[in-house]
Amino acid sequence: MEKFIPDEKRLQSVQDNYKAIKEKVEESAIKAGRNPEDVRLMAVTKTVESVYINRVLDMGADLIGENRVQEFLGKKDELHLDGVEKHLIGHLQTNKVKQIVGEVDMIESVDSLHLAKEINRVSLNKGVITKVLVEVNVGKEDSKSGVYIEQLDELLYQISELEAVKVSGLMTIPPICDSEKEISDYFSSMYQSFIDIKGKNIDNVNMDILSMGMSGDFEAAVANGSNIVRVGSAIFGARKYF
Ligand SMILES: *Cc1c(COP(=O)(O)O)cnc(C)c1O
Repeated sequence: MEKFIPDEKRLQSVQDNYKAIKEKVEESAIKAGRNPEDVRLMAVTKTVESVYINRVLDMGADLIGENRVQEFLGKKDELHLDGVEKHLIGHLQTNKVKQIVGEVDMIESVDSLHLAKEINRVSLNKGVITKVLVEVNVGKEDSKSGVYIEQLDELLYQISELEAVKVSGLMTIPPICDSEKEISDYFSSMYQSFIDIKGKNIDNVNMDILSMGMSGDFEAAVANGSNIVRVGSAIFGARKYF
């Protein structure tokens, strides 16, 4: 393999961006009358080479999100992951479950009972409990995975029966919106469902985490109750797909 030479300028800009985004997330929380400590910043590391990821980890980033199983497994040994929480945030195919269970702290992208059952089966085999979020397709877009809000209750009750899967909350990617008002409406309907479900106290289902908000919309997400914002390009720069 060719030796990878990191770009010093990019390293510096990753460092500057991370610091700036961290501050903006805190400011958004304060502006919303929330405790900044209640909102976690996830560095989304898909397509990013390990050396740039390590820069933010060395600055204290304690949560990363990867989309692809193969990519994460390929990079993880190079990453400074001591004390860092790792979440899978991309669509997960059942045939990849075997490889990822036990390797990440949470799977944020559970969108069917079928997938949850496979995670349960593999978790039982490996003797672990896997924390998951249920992904909601809040804008009912054909192009996105996730369940509709109307289907959430039923799926949560079904997953709650699986002994080695523990639901910890909800995740969503809203549609691309033209206005601040439109995006806020999506986030606020997610928050409402989150609170409604929490109030139902379903056995084996926790509603602790509401993962929403990305580079372009994390401020609106924080204003509407998000407690994990998943930020990629605003930290690492525009993604290049190889
Ligand atoms: C890529 C990705 C993000 C981050 O997106 P940016 O716009 O680059 O911040 C967040 N969540 C998921 C599920 C993603 O796939």
